[in-house]
Amino acid sequence: MSPVNTFVIVGGGLAAGKTAEELRKHGHDGPLLVIGDERERPYIRPPLSKGYLLGKEDRESIHVHPKGWYREHDVELLLGTTVTSVDAHAAEVTLDDGRRVPYAKLLLATGSSPRRLSVSGADLENVLYLRRVGDSERLKAAFTEGARIVVVGGGWIGLETAAAARAAGADVTVLERGELPLLRVLGREAAEVFARLHQDHGVDLRPHARVERITGTGGRVDGVQLADGVHLPADAVVVGVGITLNVRIAEEAGLEVRDGIVTDERLRTSAAGIHAAGDVANAYHPRLGRHLRVEHWANALHQPRTAALSMLGKDAVYDRLPYFYTDQYDLGMEYTGYAEPGGYDRVVFRGSREERRFIAFWMSGNRVVAGMSVNVWDVIGTVRALIESGTETDDAVLADPSVPLESLLPQQARPAGAEA
Ligand code: NAP
Repeated sequence: MSPVNTFVIVGGGLAAGKTAEELRKHGHDGPLLVIGDERERPYIRPPLSKGYLLGKEDRESIHVHPKGWYREHDVELLLGTTVTSVDAHAAEVTLDDGRRVPYAKLLLATGSSPRRLSVSGADLENVLYLRRVGDSERLKAAFTEGARIVVVGGGWIGLETAAAARAAGADVTVLERGELPLLRVLGREAAEVFARLHQDHGVDLRPHARVERITGTGGRVDGVQLADGVHLPADAVVVGVGITLNVRIAEEAGLEVRDGIVTDERLRTSAAGIHAAGDVANAYHPRLGRHLRVEHWANALHQPRTAALSMLGKDAVYDRLPYFYTDQYDLGMEYTGYAEPGGYDRVVFRGSREERRFIAFWMSGNRVVAGMSVNVWDVIGTVRALIESGTETDDAVLADPSVPLESLLPQQARPAGAEA
């Protein structure tokens, strides 16, 4: 293999598969290697806590490319293989079998791993995490009629898996360590909608819950002991308490790592010839004027175009607003923009929170900085255009459903259609 023009992608997820596609599309005709530690070819993860977990999507449909695509595009897939180190000076990576692979350009799309619960009993059988397709299948097997499922963590994994467990007829308890699930991400008013959604579907939602230990018999989980003395019997425990970033090889290679691998707006890391994308990339976002790391599917889907062009030495910056979505029971939600606590001063609602059919706008002054549509479709592109155009508006107009959203936009900012 020629070291002169070999492009190497480390990671076997969506960002990796998509970057391979974009590299071929934009003219890289040299050797191209995708190295992933999973045995499965690249697949998308959203269905693992939604359609695939619910049995509505099959295994084939979750893959980024059909089986033959890699061969047809002369992309070498090294699956079940771990990159143990990167030598940024020699421009080569070392694999777990000791092999060294030189590269002309390298992409680190190493993603993240579930954060482990650090209490006693956390390693008992049927204490389940969700990251990989096999994890989703284990959850699915545990979600049966009448099974007692305790979910630790009221984040996206916690809430989506709780909804899937309820759909299977399981008894579900969600343990939230704060006051409300998603409070930090959505703020109180929108977070309350999700809390009520789960309560209305029979979930026992317990705020301010502290897990003291997980109990078991014969090596298998049988319950969760809370710090307030309550013991919750459980047939399975699902843990969704966030992630840790897979940045060890980047750190050891001497790259700048600060809440992820730091990159510029072209997804270039601090080391020449090395780029990063997906969960691990803490990329400078020119539109927001700051570095931002996003742990969502849309980021792994869209950053690859910029990463590929950048690896090919072409001009491209990543300035797309964050986007994510969720499906829980009969609620479908899309969110775009960026509104961290302190980054907005109020939330304006258009529609009914009681009926769970509304659009929420996070406002800073007279501008929308983020928006979320709940059971309202084909509007998120317009919400994004409102944010990107910096259109000034007032709360009464935003809240009035009789005023078409598009009419608030200057003509040139009106979107052709909604998309992620
Ligand atoms: P997450 O969304 O970051 O939520 C983690 C939750 O666990 C938070 O509510 C957090 O509370 C809580 N938590 C943290 N440590 C805890 C502890 N020791 N005990 C109890 N609760 C604890 O992470 P996730 O739900 O695990 O999801 C993992 C990753 O997958 C994330 O990157 C997420 O964005 C992604 N994902 C996204 C979607 C989607 O976009 N629809 C769906 C599934 C997964 P605090 O807020 O108080 O820290």
